[in-house]
Amino acid sequence: MDYISTRGNAPVLGFEEVMLAGLAKDGGLYVPREWPSLSRADIASLRGLSYAEIAERIVTPYVDGAIDRATLRGLIDAAYADFGHPAIAPLRQLDSNFWLLELFHGPTLAFKDFALQLLGHLFDEVLARRGEHVTIVGATSGDTGSAAIEACKGRETVDIFILHPDGRTSEIQRRQMTTVDAANVHNIAIDGTFDDCQDLVKAMFGDAAFRESMNLSAVNSINWARIMAQIVYYFSSAVALGAPDRKIVYAVPTGNFGDIFAGYAAKKMGLPIERLIVGTNANDILARFFQAGDMSARPVVPTLSPAMDIQVSSNFERLLFDLADNDPRIVNQAMASFREAGAMACPPEIRDRAREDFDAARLDDDGILSVISAIWERCGVLIDPHTATGIHAAEECASSPENPVVVLSTAHPAKFPDAVAKATGQSPELPARLAHILTAKERYSRLRNDLAAVQDHVRSHARAGGAPT
Ligand SMILES: *Cc1c(COP(=O)(O)O)cnc(C)c1O
Repeated sequence: MDYISTRGNAPVLGFEEVMLAGLAKDGGLYVPREWPSLSRADIASLRGLSYAEIAERIVTPYVDGAIDRATLRGLIDAAYADFGHPAIAPLRQLDSNFWLLELFHGPTLAFKDFALQLLGHLFDEVLARRGEHVTIVGATSGDTGSAAIEACKGRETVDIFILHPDGRTSEIQRRQMTTVDAANVHNIAIDGTFDDCQDLVKAMFGDAAFRESMNLSAVNSINWARIMAQIVYYFSSAVALGAPDRKIVYAVPTGNFGDIFAGYAAKKMGLPIERLIVGTNANDILARFFQAGDMSARPVVPTLSPAMDIQVSSNFERLLFDLADNDPRIVNQAMASFREAGAMACPPEIRDRAREDFDAARLDDDGILSVISAIWERCGVLIDPHTATGIHAAEECASSPENPVVVLSTAHPAKFPDAVAKATGQSPELPARLAHILTAKERYSRLRNDLAAVQDHVRSHARAGGAPT
């Protein structure tokens, strides 16, 4: 499989290079040159297969020769072995034709485990074969950091440094990162905000000498391999609900647009998806775009669903490129207008095409609390604040009652106990296999918001730089 950049000015690469590179050299995002396609019979043949078997079928054409099939299957099995539910991504019925797809049974209780667990195994396989070692640096406001740490802990080929804003993550989120006891995991609490952490990471990548000498790498959400891994649960849930004979509606709590773009990819591969519905919180740039064509950035406001507190959804660029029939000029113009004027000039025919597949709705914090409370009252199910935005969007936008509606439940309610308690009076319990983090010893360093200090720390704690180990 060849991968091309959405900006049209970076080398065409194969899977392995795309995975290791993350971002394309021209600032664009890699996408497959063509979508692999599954016939109705192919899709029907997925019925009754295990999650890992479905994953093997979906992922194989994207990996295409970079890793042999038996090895790939071994990595997939290992990636999902630690999930706390035998179905990996079980469906839970809320109403006659209304379902939650529970994506929170991974080691850190959020859907990011689906992609990062597989990515960790893929990285390790490829780096070990090449005799290379990378230093992963990243910033987190909560979920991504712990999922990346869980995916990389104990791996010989990787050192991982995660910066978090000191005192500004929830206690559970911090403990999920800092109680991991592995020599290659390095948590750094920065005396500053999440934006400060992100700026430090960008500056480290911007320092070419440092980047080279440490062989810096990222596992952020623009990595194609993450999207690829997320396509799988659209197929597994759709066939469980009767695809290809029925069309399915998906509603997705959305921030960076990675998860819902995976749904779009599934549709491009032939899965009969009737509609993809974007749920946003009060940071509603995507809802404004799909409803009214207004793609203008506003300041980010903190909400009860922090993983969606985003105004610039990086993966939207992949959709734009596809809707523009892979014309990088349209993407370059749109991205330039966004950078310069804070509002994306998107040709009206592109938005019309987007509207054929997508719909969107926003929900502010009061609304989030009422949805959590209503689902508890009506169904006796506790949901997290991110999932609430998806439920609302589904209720607002799903129009044909005969097709199943699936809301992606992206985090376990116990990750956000305060909001859940406020809405329902119930305190959701942490699954037993995570209870130890409440008492385990924490390991992290506190550093000033100072690039040189952070770089020194990384240099002196990483086991190796770019040289083969
Ligand atoms: C990351 C995250 C999201 C948003 O997913 P995107 O792929 O960024 O759109 C939603 N919910 C939770 C719990 C998350 O961690």
